[in-house]
Amino acid sequence: MEAMAGKYEYDIKCDLHLHTISSGHAYSTVEEYARAAAEKGLQAIAIADHGPALQGGGNLYHFWNMRVLPRCWYSVIILRSVEANIIDEDGGLDLPEKILEKLDLVHAGLHPYTGFEGESVEKNTRAVLGALANPLVDVITHPDNPSFPVNMDAVAEAAVREGKALEVNNSSFVYTRLGSEETCRLMAARIGTLGGRLAVGSDAHVSAFAGEFSHAVEILRETDTVPESVINYSIERLAEFLRSRGKDCSWTEEARRA
Ligand SMILES: [Zn+2]
Ligand SMILES: [Zn+2]
Repeated sequence: MEAMAGKYEYDIKCDLHLHTISSGHAYSTVEEYARAAAEKGLQAIAIADHGPALQGGGNLYHFWNMRVLPRCWYSVIILRSVEANIIDEDGGLDLPEKILEKLDLVHAGLHPYTGFEGESVEKNTRAVLGALANPLVDVITHPDNPSFPVNMDAVAEAAVREGKALEVNNSSFVYTRLGSEETCRLMAARIGTLGGRLAVGSDAHVSAFAGEFSHAVEILRETDTVPESVINYSIERLAEFLRSRGKDCSWTEEARRA
């Protein structure tokens, strides 16, 4: 893909979508991610392992116990997160509320072999709208996945109404969910028109790719996405988003000291 000029430059300072060895199918530790993030000049990362419904996902106690993680490691803020699986048509998730409400950031998404194989656009859309209606969900991951097509207009409108973000997932253009680009462009353009928010995630499963956003940034350029509409553009922007979601952002104190 040849780089387009675009209206804006992008220098995204937080990566909210990282999988560790706790996921069983990822290959780096939290410390390795923190070090890699520091080397790349990131300000914050979110450890977002898969929920238990996906094969090899983190167990309940992994998520409950995230409070033991340092808030700041190698001068990088560490957020406690999950990529929960949407497991039913009402948007139900695979972690109990009492765990979800302890996390700094909750992603939710549709994944293989968790109940939506070969389902219709209507069913997939209902499930994602259900997750968006859940007050504990902050971001929908890779809603442009061609394996689980949704009515993107309906999803974008609901995300904006609920004050949530839709993700532009860098891995979708490189490793998995290939063929996501066109729907992703439509999603970013629609969110731009509606004045909504996007999240940009590396979806790294190994620390070498923490903060790897190059393909996602092409989509932002092509759609003239306003940098401030990206919730993880900077640590300040991230805190503003999470405060708008009613989250405890006491980690910003650590960020000031770092
Ligand atoms: Zn995912
Ligand atoms: Zn992921």
